[in-house]
Amino acid sequence: MRSKIVAGNWKMNNSAKESKALIKNLKKSVKGLPLNNTRVIVAPSFVYLQKIAKKTAGTPIEVAAQNMNDAPKGAYTGEVSGEMLKSIHVNTVILGHSERREYYYETDTILKKKVLSALDQNFEIIFCFGEVLEDRKSNKHFDVVKSQIVNALFDLTSDDWENIILAYEPVWAIGTGETASPEQAQEMHAFVRDLIATKYDQHLAEHTSILYGGSVKPANAEEIFSKEDVDGGLIGGASLNADDFTAIVKAI
Ligand code: PEP
Repeated sequence: MRSKIVAGNWKMNNSAKESKALIKNLKKSVKGLPLNNTRVIVAPSFVYLQKIAKKTAGTPIEVAAQNMNDAPKGAYTGEVSGEMLKSIHVNTVILGHSERREYYYETDTILKKKVLSALDQNFEIIFCFGEVLEDRKSNKHFDVVKSQIVNALFDLTSDDWENIILAYEPVWAIGTGETASPEQAQEMHAFVRDLIATKYDQHLAEHTSILYGGSVKPANAEEIFSKEDVDGGLIGGASLNADDFTAIVKAI
């Protein structure tokens, strides 16, 4: 069975003091929750990753990095390698976030290199994809999502897919307060699952977790998570508040 996952992407937010308080509150509120098979992941800034990995060790909260470079090491000023992440016991990385695609020009080709490098180093990947508003308005959203997935992920083996978590994040819903309707999310998730089944097989498709991201809040989480092909959420803004994030975890 595929896992249910609620992941919080802290992005470039929080001072050291704020990060410490957030993880402390989160540990307290998640402790004792009946999580069943739900995984809870937080992705703080690189600056706090090691501390937060230590603070969450032995708790149900896992940590992920927000990005990594595909090169093993070298003269890449300002970048962070997989080897560095592994050395602080971080085993999950978010790749393909729309902010990386838009502001740092991460193309499908670059993302494919990052995915292959991360898999090679035994990372689990939360791979984000999603259309911009014009794509949806011109009814190209399925084509856009298909090409993002095919270009970056369809040369992977079935075994590689054991370490892939997908996150559908329509760009028009990220940080805008606008959410895809549960029906729009379900429609896209089912489409993606079908793509995987056609390229690989039904078993793999059924075992791949597909998260939804885009203005998920305590007020709308339950309805979105109730959809058959929505296996959880990648949460931005609401993950910066322990009560809100916990409420979203409880909604799954
Ligand atoms: C995100 O950036 O992954 C995200 C979903 O952000 P928000 O929840 O703030 O829309």
